Amino acid sequence: MSAAPFPPLRIGIGWDRHRMEEGRRCVLAGVEVRHASGPAGHSDGDVVLHALTDAILGAAGLDDLGTLFPDTDPRLRGAASDEFLREALARAESRGLRPVNVDIVIVADAPRIAPHRAAMRARLADLLGLPAECVNLKGKTTEVGETDRIEAYAVALLAGAPA
Ligand code: MG
Repeated sequence: MSAAPFPPLRIGIGWDRHRMEEGRRCVLAGVEVRHASGPAGHSDGDVVLHALTDAILGAAGLDDLGTLFPDTDPRLRGAASDEFLREALARAESRGLRPVNVDIVIVADAPRIAPHRAAMRARLADLLGLPAECVNLKGKTTEVGETDRIEAYAVALLAGAPA
């Protein structure tokens, strides 16, 4: 075997689920979607950014989202979840790690994700500093009418930046 390969590759997984509440803003992947209900939560409830942030943190071997940003912190009430992702990326960067690509599944019977998919990819690519082709995202319906909840799964691959 030769010496340890460089760059080191690190994979992380994240998952989140929120209840959908009537009259709440519906912000998913940092994009506001017109819908009668939105994810309930202490922050803006963006399940996609929560799952993705946990995937980044996990890949970097850091504490999880709920530990870093507790929902008991009054300063985080209504917080835009892109702040969480930015902080996770900064912490990963301080360990010499940057995202390579991410893949996300949003499980929702409503709203439909497809019409917003391109905007969500562009927004995530911007936040991650990646080209859009390195950010994948798809919506899946359950076909059992689970309109009262929304879930997101994310995997993120990070690589060590060359010194
Ligand atoms: Mg959450």
